[in-house]
Amino acid sequence: MTDYLEQAQQQALYREVTTLEPVDAVHVRSDSRVYLNLASNNYLGLTHCPIVQQAASHAALTYGTGSGGARLITGNHAYYTKLEHELAAFKQTEGTVVFSTGYMANIGAISGLATQADVIFSDELNHASLIDGCRLAKARIVVYRHCDISHLAELMNTTPCQGNRMIITDGVFSMDGDIAPLPDLVKLAEQYKAILIVDDAHATGVIGPGGRGTTAHFGLEGKVQVQLGTLSKALGSEGGFVAGSRILIDYLINRARSFIFTTALSPATVAASCAALTRLKAQPALVATLQANALFTRQCLTKAGFAISQGITPIIPIPVGSAKLALAMAAELKSQGLLLSAIRPPTVQPGTSRLRLAVSAAHDQAELADAVCKITAVAQRFDIL
Ligand SMILES: *Cc1c(COP(=O)(O)O)cnc(C)c1O
Repeated sequence: MTDYLEQAQQQALYREVTTLEPVDAVHVRSDSRVYLNLASNNYLGLTHCPIVQQAASHAALTYGTGSGGARLITGNHAYYTKLEHELAAFKQTEGTVVFSTGYMANIGAISGLATQADVIFSDELNHASLIDGCRLAKARIVVYRHCDISHLAELMNTTPCQGNRMIITDGVFSMDGDIAPLPDLVKLAEQYKAILIVDDAHATGVIGPGGRGTTAHFGLEGKVQVQLGTLSKALGSEGGFVAGSRILIDYLINRARSFIFTTALSPATVAASCAALTRLKAQPALVATLQANALFTRQCLTKAGFAISQGITPIIPIPVGSAKLALAMAAELKSQGLLLSAIRPPTVQPGTSRLRLAVSAAHDQAELADAVCKITAVAQRFDIL
């Protein structure tokens, strides 16, 4: 352990947690200084929406702080029924099932669905929770180059399969902010009768009409068999979910070990998710504000000389290269009041470390423009611009 930690420190790969006190949806306090938070997945600022906060506190005061058991035993309070019903309407699927985190939804769904005879085709930049789900499943795993449809087609054509084929992808990729080529993936899945699994952790509340996600963004409702999502990012609460056919949901309730063998979420958490979803449905303009802020930030960065792709997703990577440089730049920006994450291996490949900006609907554009000025000056000083 000591060797590992020393080595991690030498390579600028050491990780530690710091304690931050949220001030509002996009500012945090640390050591009595306030920072602009550009590292959070709180895309719509719903963590600090008074209606959502009141729903959580009312639920805790009325029903207690903990659920006291797994959902299949005594933990399934009424907020769950309401949330799953409303999520299904939102995702336009027959059903949904809520897990305790997005991570647990993903590992439970994949390992519950895939058997030894199956083959899983997985995008090389998929989120760790999808990778871990694949590893837990006994199926063969075939990794295709990032968003490379012809590579995937070639692999599907040449890989023998006795059971089911599955294609797994992030909807919006968590470290690059690009959107999976879903229309092509759907075509390929139909051609090979493969099951398509899309993780919309960074797409729910972010893209598509009303924030309904990647499937809705491309108008492919009914074409994606398994949609995964989280309640912990744009929806400002905690938990994860699977959306799909009734039979898929019933099957996972019976088969997903990360659903069965864990304590249910607290009433406060689930009530907060319900309220956040209601808020989003009543105020779809929140999604437009988020997308406008994302577009604005990308344009500011492009004007400043960064090679940034345009787009509406709020995840904006600024390529840096080495982990040491990314860490040093993040530290310098922190000293100027900006909190953004230095993304390093093993989250990304060695040599592709980056600063990652996460934009929120709760940011104002003056703050974002000022942040880009600071990032530009630091990038020039560190010779990456
Ligand atoms: C954050 C994330 C998850 C995990 O969701 P949690 O609710 O935080 O456990 C899953 N998939 C992707 C792509 C993510 O970015």
